[in-house]
Amino acid sequence: MCLPGYYEYSCRVKIVAGHDALERIPDLLRRLGARRPLLVTDRGVAGAGLVGILREAMGERLEIGAVADDVPPDSDLEAVNRLAVLYRESGCDALIALGGGSVMDTAKGINILVSERGDDLLKFSGAGTLKRPLKPLIAVPTTAGTGSEVTLVAVIKDRQRRLKMAFVSYFLLPDAAILDSRMTLSLPAPITAATGMDALSHAVEAYYCLGKNPLSDVTALAAIRLIGGNLLNVVHNPSDREGRLAMANAAALAGMAFSNSMVGMVHALGHAVGSVCGLPHGVCMAILLPYGLEYNRHKREAVMGELLFPIGGPEIYGKTAPEDRTGRVIAYIRQLNEDLHAATGGRHARFFGEIRDREGNHAAPRRRLPEIARTALGDGAIFYNPEDLDYDDLLMVLEAAWEGMPLDSGRIRKG
Ligand code: NAD
Repeated sequence: MCLPGYYEYSCRVKIVAGHDALERIPDLLRRLGARRPLLVTDRGVAGAGLVGILREAMGERLEIGAVADDVPPDSDLEAVNRLAVLYRESGCDALIALGGGSVMDTAKGINILVSERGDDLLKFSGAGTLKRPLKPLIAVPTTAGTGSEVTLVAVIKDRQRRLKMAFVSYFLLPDAAILDSRMTLSLPAPITAATGMDALSHAVEAYYCLGKNPLSDVTALAAIRLIGGNLLNVVHNPSDREGRLAMANAAALAGMAFSNSMVGMVHALGHAVGSVCGLPHGVCMAILLPYGLEYNRHKREAVMGELLFPIGGPEIYGKTAPEDRTGRVIAYIRQLNEDLHAATGGRHARFFGEIRDREGNHAAPRRRLPEIARTALGDGAIFYNPEDLDYDDLLMVLEAAWEGMPLDSGRIRKG
């Protein structure tokens, strides 16, 4: 897969974007031969009134077979297995996923079970287990982060084993992604910040990981430019519809990039922190992204330096000596985390050690770092990281990210 010059790129998802894109859903489903979709969502999304907006946009033109509004944070096996039963019992023939990555990945999981007539999702984990097209799926993202609306991946948690599993197949690509600015206007500032940094981590890792290719480069650079120009603005001005739409486009572009290139150690570690400690995915990505750049810098100096162009613009790029560009990119990302911290009144975390749970304890206790490092070793994303990592390397990165300290360059492996 990482042979020099060889790559595959595919995104067959129809993108419908705009300030009134939801209205197209009945027509899209009819063309797909579906008449009675299961609407999958979660309590936060429903509580923000988005189910009502969706229903109003569709009017009488579509009958919803059933509404599942209790998807938990992070999709999990239990929810998928349970909601597949609801789909069957309600006589549904398609799915609409209305939510963030947790909802969209749950819908992908349900789709595997109802299309393959299975009752245990675990049997379909990994890559290449699906052999034929699934039921129609329309994804309506309500966060601008994961890009799941255009990716071939579903990340689903096995809570018993404290493991986030990846399901990978071109058949998991939704039939359509609806990017509608109305869907993110209600997104709280800290979630806007963390999910926006998730999108940035997809684009940046896609741009320097081993699976990068000319087409993933194009979508990654376009995403970074949009995020650089809009993320902080929408945190300050949540009702800026143009900014919200720009971020929705950015998240989809970043999703297209990494769905066709893969990612690296930032995701391997982030999935592991999410698995072991349950921290939100975007929060993990925001904290870990500068460390991915620092750790891999000696292998990717020139490539990383190119990111200053979409981040800083042509003038800053042109005025910065090539050997200083990567340093400025890393500094920019650290500063963006600081600015988001300030803009959210301190609710956007910059390092793991500052995150507390409701009881005031560390949400990711330092003593769990060895378990997180061991979990990360088993994550597929690590194979696409430019530099190798073993357990000690991962632990070193986690310790720095827990303290919020830069990496000790003398301890970075230089293979
Ligand atoms: P999420 O879906 O868990 O949502 C976070 C919270 O925001 C929830 O409480 C939700 O109710 C609330 N929310 C969402 N939209 C809202 C809105 N518009 N208004 C008010 N509240 C809203 O968060 P996420 O970051 O989008 O998804 C994270 C999950 O996605 C993780 O499980 C991660 O592993 C997975 N993921 C998947 C892919 C992929 O390609 N499949 C990529 C990255 C991450």
